[in-house]
Amino acid sequence: MNEEETLDQSFRDTIGTIKKDGKRNWVFPKRPSGWYYNARTWVSVFLLAFLFGMPFIELNGQPFLLFNVFERKFIIFGLFFGPYDFHIFLLSFIALVIFVILFTAIYGRVFCGWVCPQTIFMELVFRKIEYLIDGDFRDQKKLKSSPWNGKKIFKRGLKYSIFLVISYLIAHTFMAYLVGLDEVREIVSSSPSERPGGFIAMNVFTMLFFFVFSWFREQACLIVCPYGRLQGVLLDQNSLAVTYDFIRGEPRGKLKKDIVQDKGDCVDCHLCVDVCPTGIDIRNGIQMECVNCTACIDACDDVMVKIKKPKGLIRLDSLSGIQTGKRFSFSFRVGVYTTILVILVSIISILLANRTDVEVNILRTPGMLYQVQPNNKISNLYNFHVINKTFHDMNIELKVKGIKGEIKILGKKPEVKELEVYEGRFMLIVDEKDLVQVNSKVDIIVLEDGKELQTIKTSFLGKVAEE
Ligand code: SF4
Ligand code: SF4
Repeated sequence: MNEEETLDQSFRDTIGTIKKDGKRNWVFPKRPSGWYYNARTWVSVFLLAFLFGMPFIELNGQPFLLFNVFERKFIIFGLFFGPYDFHIFLLSFIALVIFVILFTAIYGRVFCGWVCPQTIFMELVFRKIEYLIDGDFRDQKKLKSSPWNGKKIFKRGLKYSIFLVISYLIAHTFMAYLVGLDEVREIVSSSPSERPGGFIAMNVFTMLFFFVFSWFREQACLIVCPYGRLQGVLLDQNSLAVTYDFIRGEPRGKLKKDIVQDKGDCVDCHLCVDVCPTGIDIRNGIQMECVNCTACIDACDDVMVKIKKPKGLIRLDSLSGIQTGKRFSFSFRVGVYTTILVILVSIISILLANRTDVEVNILRTPGMLYQVQPNNKISNLYNFHVINKTFHDMNIELKVKGIKGEIKILGKKPEVKELEVYEGRFMLIVDEKDLVQVNSKVDIIVLEDGKELQTIKTSFLGKVAEE
């Protein structure tokens, strides 16, 4: 018996949140409770503390995390990453995509229900406030259909005022990650005419968050989110997902007192549907709309305890696990993804381990051999550039090793400002009598305030003095 044979598949032709006439079918989910809901609440407390707390954490006077796309300034865990770290960014992005694919192939859409900011804010912040003000789902339905009276105006006014304040808070935090906390403070303390860009951005983000969490809600997961759209190709029969055990549950039917029934364990109480924030019936099978929030597991486990049946009629399991009774198996696809991910993570780790605070490149000026100088001296011209990835200015000195010679910086002294790139030229002058070959290997030692930073290998061209 498979899922198709067991269940009516006509639900796949429609979306639960859209009525037949095309209008929005507003979802009023029942207030969830249970082990999974409590666990999600704790996870959300931790994630929200991280999200709102991070912009306040600084290291050496700089934000711990900053994603300033406007100035291409990225600080991750106190380390500055600039355009010259593009290769690390690119590999990290590929690794992240593979990780998401791999994670989804194994654990399904767990990210959506437990980590995604949309679900965390919607289900564990805004929805909790809604339950507090409007009551549980039946009260909410009643309030919606009731005429506008004092009570309704008060409740709506209170709820949307709180939603607006939280939306402002989220917008400020979001901006702090983009432009830094100091800039946000400046925007907040200046008049709108002084910083119109910041003022407009702050209010646009606030209105966007307010719109999403007050009205758009689950539509963000069902219609907009590209990750949600990809579920159809990322999941297979072996992926873990919130799944209804149709073999154990069917044929469903209401319990009748004192009558022995030849039915499955599902008592058709509808509670798993009532709690669903995306308005679906998980008993129809794994669906694209399911964000794996596990609210239906809690609801059904509660029912199973009451009717003295084992928990887990709805549980985290794969479709093949339900059909065969076997637990998760390691598929070929998962093996390939894992191998690629391990390789990518290893490369990124090596790149990060070898990443230095200062990057120096020295190249003999192309198209030039050597210059003859007075007093039997020979010089070579070099271009060099220094990338300062630290938050302090640097005074760079160059010394030569491997040959007796003198370095003469051309132009301004190599003072490299924080997070800036310096480009300059220098001349290496060598006595002809000290040259033993036409092409000599030389080391240029790069120092900052007397401290050796790097040694760059290059060459010196010249003519060997005749005996
Ligand atoms: S079906 Fe269950 S896990 Fe999926 S969204 Fe609905 S309540 Fe959450
Ligand atoms: S909560 Fe459990 S018993 Fe009730 S309808 Fe859903 S699957 Fe059936």
